[in-house]
Amino acid sequence: MKQSERIQVSDGSVIDPGFTQQVLQLTGEEVMSCFQCLKCTNGCPLAPEMDVPPNKAIRYVQLGMRDAALAADSIWICATCYTCSVRCPNDIDIAHVMDTLRRLAYQSQGDATPKAHIVHFHELFLDSLKQYGRVNETKLLARYELKEGRFLKDAKLGMKMFFMGKMSIFPQKVENKEQIKLIFDRASKRKG
Ligand code: SF4
Ligand code: SF4
Repeated sequence: MKQSERIQVSDGSVIDPGFTQQVLQLTGEEVMSCFQCLKCTNGCPLAPEMDVPPNKAIRYVQLGMRDAALAADSIWICATCYTCSVRCPNDIDIAHVMDTLRRLAYQSQGDATPKAHIVHFHELFLDSLKQYGRVNETKLLARYELKEGRFLKDAKLGMKMFFMGKMSIFPQKVENKEQIKLIFDRASKRKG
């Protein structure tokens, strides 16, 4: 979507009214009804680790603060646990908004996104799931390390987990892979 006119305000923040519309359209959430009660942030298990807690991320969306919202580490820290969404008195699915902000951040910067490695990990995780019906940690770790150019960095940890029986070399497959395929097909249709 084309960015609308950006306005710089006195504290140096940049306001982009089109950003608010974009998030409203993509999520269908009633973000404008947020009245900053903080119930989302008070229930968020990861809020202490966040630079921009969920209530503030919602505020950034309301105000059209695209740069601030998309630069927040919090959108990558969010574990999509939905605690905030079920606590919101206005039924805003905040987890959905956080996910949308993640997607917008990656769309705008691609692999230059500082947290692009998280997207890569998610892609490889889903790929493994699609292939075997369950995740093969050994292959996932090896592919991730290769992709990120940090081969052998976690080898010591991998070996430790292997000897503890937490990682297996040979992938375990589920019996009915057809059902897994159906789930992926349905999800990709919903994504459009
Ligand atoms: S719980 Fe809902 S209304 Fe309250 S601050 Fe969070 S998003 Fe806003
Ligand atoms: S979905 Fe994300 S923002 Fe919401 S409570 Fe869970 S970790 Fe926090």
